[in-house]
Amino acid sequence: MKKGWLVLCSAFLIMLSACGSTPAAKGQSGSAEKIEELEVHFIDVGQGDATLVKCGGQAMLIDAGENDKGVLVQNYLRKQGVKALDYLIVTHPDSDHCGGADVIITKYDIGTVIMPNYSKDTASYRDVVRALDYKHYQVTEPKVGDYYRLGDAGFTIIAPNKDDYGDEANNYSVGILLEHGDKKFVFTGDAEEEAEKDMIDSGMDLSADVLKAGHHGSRTASTDDFVAMVHPEYAVISCGEDNEYGHPHAATLNTFRGLGIKVFRTDEQGSLIALSDGSTITWNASPSDTWKAGEPVGTGSGKKAEQGMKEITYILNTKTKKFHRLSCDSLPTENRNDSTQSREEIIAQGYAPCGRCNP
Ligand SMILES: [Zn+2]
Ligand SMILES: [Zn+2]
Repeated sequence: MKKGWLVLCSAFLIMLSACGSTPAAKGQSGSAEKIEELEVHFIDVGQGDATLVKCGGQAMLIDAGENDKGVLVQNYLRKQGVKALDYLIVTHPDSDHCGGADVIITKYDIGTVIMPNYSKDTASYRDVVRALDYKHYQVTEPKVGDYYRLGDAGFTIIAPNKDDYGDEANNYSVGILLEHGDKKFVFTGDAEEEAEKDMIDSGMDLSADVLKAGHHGSRTASTDDFVAMVHPEYAVISCGEDNEYGHPHAATLNTFRGLGIKVFRTDEQGSLIALSDGSTITWNASPSDTWKAGEPVGTGSGKKAEQGMKEITYILNTKTKKFHRLSCDSLPTENRNDSTQSREEIIAQGYAPCGRCNP
């Protein structure tokens, strides 16, 4: 009798204590302290990149689109209530990433400006440097492994892993792993195959829920090994509608599709917003299901003129009908034509890739 009462009593106590502490094992409502929501805005800047990250009253901008997109990005930030930036990352000096940064640097107070130690002698890049001088801002060089806080989130530098990638501006891109609770995002700017390989070889844990596809979905990035290592649930491609480079390339889309990765695209869906509570990510749109690769635009297109100054893509030898990377050590001195066209367009005109630089 007495024993039975004890058993009953302790059973009651166990019930009580079970009620008092919320079941930690059961997902989101777990006992872990609630963290501030993370917002990641992949801003539609046409052909280029600009990503706003907000958490707990802090904000970071990764790239600012082309020269003519600075004001668009500024307006986007204003609508989001961003008054100052804790961080600005300019992944690399190409104009589709750094172009609008001069406007942002001039208009906003910025805590830390992170840029790779690689410069380009272009008007876009000179404007960025001029704006930094005007604001007396020092540039912080990205060091792989360095960690920065952003509200209840934080990010680690994962690239560049080398000081010297020759003239391959894309490979100097600053890469970061953004973490928020259990959720992770990887951003790699325009890093291509060589830089992706260096990230893999660094031995860091690159697994993430969201991969911002490198180089606008170009086949020169998102290599099988890299995508397999990140193994994201979602990939986001930032590129312009009907862009002349044919981004995203079919090879990249096939890689994602083959691994069951859901794809979002700014060219089809406009600005994309991911919200994380630390255990779940929700989006402002459903993934794209077109799997439609871009097509390089022909030379006669009026779009080209409208986009203004273009960057040199390859060096042609009009006599030998070979084309070279800008870094090739056997560039022609005569019969040279500095092309701004895509690889596909150049090949379509009967040019063959140089055997030395394998463009
Ligand atoms: Zn780019
Ligand atoms: Zn680039």
